[in-house]
Amino acid sequence: MKMAGFYDESISNGLGWRAVLFVSGCPHHCPGCHNQVAQDYNYGQEFDKEKIINRICENSILKGITISGGEPLCKENIAEVGEFIKDLKKVRPEFDVWCYSGYTLEQLQERNDETTNKVLNQIDVLVDGRFVESQKKANLKFRGSENQRIINVPESLKVHKLVTLDM
Ligand code: SF4
Repeated sequence: MKMAGFYDESISNGLGWRAVLFVSGCPHHCPGCHNQVAQDYNYGQEFDKEKIINRICENSILKGITISGGEPLCKENIAEVGEFIKDLKKVRPEFDVWCYSGYTLEQLQERNDETTNKVLNQIDVLVDGRFVESQKKANLKFRGSENQRIINVPESLKVHKLVTLDM
């Protein structure tokens, strides 16, 4: 997997101070995409999992990790993203995990695939759905267009219905 970018700290990609990983490659090609270069699977540098985890561990201000892109949950990236979250949680178990995906939660569940289910179980908050330019609004918090939802994943999986975060 290639990495399109990495922020050591950010407060605009989820609640609290977070590291942000942008993976490369996206199959959705949304018109008006905020990160068009990251649609290319070969863009950026090789993702070095250990190096990134070490960088995160050096920063005590962080409360979580956000994984964005590109598309972290496409078939090309999802297994490596899952390994990254698993290894990061070993050293920072208190970290919460936000993930941005162009797939909806329902589409991910419909895959009925072991890797996808494992990764969903590791995510605390999923900001889901493709970016829709006609639904773009400037004042939306942590999302680009109104169709996108900020989902409490553990709660949604537990009660078998969609639980969104109110913000
Ligand atoms: S899902 Fe995100 S990265 Fe992919 S094309 Fe749409 S806006 Fe761009």
